[in-house]
Amino acid sequence: MTEEIVFKTEADMPYLPMTLGTTLVNKTGSWRYIRPLYVDKTPPCNHNCPAGSDVVGYLALIREGKYKEAWELIKQENPFPGVCGRVCPHPCESECNRGELGGAIAIHTLERFLADWAVSNNEERGMSNEAPDSSLGKVAVIGSGPAGLSCAYHLARLGYPVTVFEALPVAGGMMRVGIPEYRLPREVLDREIADIEALGVKIKTNTRVGDNVKLSDLEDYQALFIGVGLQKSRKLNVPGEDAEGVIHGLEFLKKVNLGEEVQVGASVAVIGGGNTAIDAARTALRLGSEVTILYRRSRAEMPAIAEEIEEALAEGISIRYLAAPSRILTEDGRVSKLECIKMRLGEPDESGRRRPIPIEGSEFTIEVDTVIPAVAQELENGSWKLEVGSWRPALSLAEGLEVEQGRIVIDEAGLTTGEGVFAGGDVATPFGTVAHAVGSGKRAALAIDQYLRGEELAGFPPLDEAVQAVPKDVDPDVVRFEDLNLAYFEELERTEQPQKTVEERVRGFEEVNLGFGEEEAQAEAERCFSCGTCNLCDTCLIFCPDVAIARVDHKGYEVNYDYCKGCGICAEECPRYAISIEEELKWKK
Ligand code: FAD
Repeated sequence: MTEEIVFKTEADMPYLPMTLGTTLVNKTGSWRYIRPLYVDKTPPCNHNCPAGSDVVGYLALIREGKYKEAWELIKQENPFPGVCGRVCPHPCESECNRGELGGAIAIHTLERFLADWAVSNNEERGMSNEAPDSSLGKVAVIGSGPAGLSCAYHLARLGYPVTVFEALPVAGGMMRVGIPEYRLPREVLDREIADIEALGVKIKTNTRVGDNVKLSDLEDYQALFIGVGLQKSRKLNVPGEDAEGVIHGLEFLKKVNLGEEVQVGASVAVIGGGNTAIDAARTALRLGSEVTILYRRSRAEMPAIAEEIEEALAEGISIRYLAAPSRILTEDGRVSKLECIKMRLGEPDESGRRRPIPIEGSEFTIEVDTVIPAVAQELENGSWKLEVGSWRPALSLAEGLEVEQGRIVIDEAGLTTGEGVFAGGDVATPFGTVAHAVGSGKRAALAIDQYLRGEELAGFPPLDEAVQAVPKDVDPDVVRFEDLNLAYFEELERTEQPQKTVEERVRGFEEVNLGFGEEEAQAEAERCFSCGTCNLCDTCLIFCPDVAIARVDHKGYEVNYDYCKGCGICAEECPRYAISIEEELKWKK
């Protein structure tokens, strides 16, 4: 054991440098060769949000109980938090660094929590904006899906008068007529669309452009946005497809969602592996049928949202993998059986998924009375190309819009090959989600603003990256798990939202997922690492051996470089990688 040292008088003490005056005259910062800088980095969730939401920002506001501010922060970028909080496949969560320590944050459920909170607290409709100013130019939006409505919303917030033309009697696109009510209650959608209308956006339903209204009738609009989606179900191209008892997935869902009567039999085969197939299957189940899904690849290649597949299985739908229809057999013109062929997987095709190859002689039949093909969606009106030319013949659109592989070609600003004609969402991009459609509608709105102001279209990232209406000044460096200081974080399990029981679910179309209450929302938001984002935790300040860091106006920290010796402890200690170290030489004038 070491002996205790006791100083009885001053004379016992060793020589120590002491000063009776201030030492601040000694600017120890001059020894430094590296310097710390407060630089927020890009959190992986923000980076992966196709709608461009500041996820880390709104989770921080939830933790502070500032729900209104959190909801407004989302609404700044995305007019559909209630929709996305329910149906988004949440790519933000797949990259969440928390995934390594207890499971990704349930971001989409928190987004939904805020949207539900805004409804129950009757928050203001929409967000304040300038009164529409037609001197800026009027914009026509074709299609009221998430792409068109997001474009209209952002343009309205920028002060433009916007009219949305919608072919159907109701607005919302696939959010209304594709996604079933048990995943997205209509009052949620109604409310968010009403918020958009509250900004002055006019939605003209029952108005199909190219039919009830010609493009040439829109001449007094100075810019067009085409967000018509992909409305046509791709055919299977097998014998018997025209028989009674065959109804294509989109048509089936549209009818059910619009409250029309649909004849669906006792035994249904759904063909396909995407969201439309799973939704059609779960809808048919709720209408009382026994349902089998046939998918030509394996579960690993299935493009539908993983949770939806799980839920379908839990509800009693069977999925037959590696099988494709080869013939629909009929009796008196009605479906009686489905002949299928077994498949095996070959090399990956252009989609990156392994190509299904039929196994010769492996045909088998299943007894069904209804077949719902739901294999893909296509551009409904191939003549867009030509029709757009009639909008402003003077603008050299005689050649029409370029369409490639069934989609309207756009550049990074969302501009088509026609001047003043922009496009986005499913008709122009291959991503196929609501959040991507919201992001591309916003991109076009920002570009239309530049266009109408006579500016050069600039500053747009590639189409697979999000744009922000209110960009945050952050380093593009995306924070990885290993960038964090894990000493500060313990493993905490993710909270899952409750669901209705399977028995309750299959009885009808009531919402399956029940969302978070305030307590769960707080607990889940607490788990967020705030990757790359200073949240004023004071760790840097506490650890600085030179007392060179100070809080400034409770907004952030300031390093006093006269005294910071560049030891780097602040950056090393920072739990969330919000401090960068740079070589001093860079800063020497
Ligand atoms: P759409 O939503 O298709 O909207 C286009 C609108 O344009 C429609 O209302 C159409 O009637 C209208 N229109 C077309 N032609 C004209 C015209 N000539 N004049 C006027 N109006 C016209 N995504 C997710 O993120 N999560 C999900 O869970 C999910 N599930 C889905 C389930 C189903 C069954 C389907 C079909 C899709 C699903 N998606 C999901 C995909 C998502 O809904 C789409 O990617 C998204 O809606 C595309 O938005 P959009 O605005 O481009 O087109």
